[in-house]
Amino acid sequence: MKKILILHTGGTIGMTLSKDGYKPDGKYFKQAIYHMDSLKAHNMPKWDYMETKPLLDSSKMSVKEWNCIGRIIADNKNKYDGFVILHGTDTMSYSASALSFMLKGLNKPVILTGSQIPLCETRSDGRDNLITSMLIAANSNIKEVCIYFGGLLIRGNRSTKYSADHMQAFASPNYPFLATAGISIQYNEKAFLKNNNSFKFQEFKEVPIGIISVFPGFKFELFESIITEKLKGIVIETFGSGNIPNEEKELLPILKKAKENNVVIVVCSQCPQATVDMSVYETGQTLKKAGAVSGKDLTTEAAVTKLYYLFSKYTDINKIKQYMEKNICGELT
Ligand code: ASP
Repeated sequence: MKKILILHTGGTIGMTLSKDGYKPDGKYFKQAIYHMDSLKAHNMPKWDYMETKPLLDSSKMSVKEWNCIGRIIADNKNKYDGFVILHGTDTMSYSASALSFMLKGLNKPVILTGSQIPLCETRSDGRDNLITSMLIAANSNIKEVCIYFGGLLIRGNRSTKYSADHMQAFASPNYPFLATAGISIQYNEKAFLKNNNSFKFQEFKEVPIGIISVFPGFKFELFESIITEKLKGIVIETFGSGNIPNEEKELLPILKKAKENNVVIVVCSQCPQATVDMSVYETGQTLKKAGAVSGKDLTTEAAVTKLYYLFSKYTDINKIKQYMEKNICGELT
């Protein structure tokens, strides 16, 4: 019989209404899941329940919480067949991406889920998300970090939060779904990550990283002051396949400054479904010539967490730039 660790970190699924709005309520949630009959059904894996403290709205989560979740999974890797992480939806894609790098080679299912409506509410989607995630976490063919939400199983580092209104909150714009759950769970096994036998938990450092999203009329010089030697990496969300407004004469000195300060510039796209190719247009070549690296089809979430991962693991800037463009754990094509 398979055994799963349910790790509750916060988020809407376990919230109740307080006078200041919805907030995590560990006492309520623990009681609710211990009373949930479906979790005791004969076809369910066995499970233990654990909470991180304090339970958080995921908009408050960062490197410290990712390290804490990653460490719990790494420390318990031999005790459980799979892990279900209950998490807020707002930054679930960032956490799933971060965990995919931290836990590279774990070779066990780590399924993040949560809900749009709290479990305490009548129409909550939390029940199905939790129950189906438990069944998925018991499938030993899955050897990666995923998000299960609203009937879709998505590779964690390919996911992005897409809707704050609908029950299908996450999309996977550049990679097929790993499964769809209707009447039955249909797995898309050929899309699964293959075995990777070198596991070593990689804690993240608090690396100073920035995101810039360009827009028509963008004034590069206003951002010059943030390109100091303190900044390690910057993700630029560009137009289309990697284009920026390069008419601005201020741009080149800024890119030069970034290069001098060893800031890694990663070019991603504002189009959710896109692959960056800076060689196509003259407007993209400016970035390429300045030494920016291509984020290819990385989501912004994966690009940011990959920078954290690489700067936590390596000091050599050229190595970091090289690895940014290479696939590490299924995050880019
Ligand atoms: N603000 C909540 C969170 O991310 C939203 C959710 O869980 O859906 O924790």
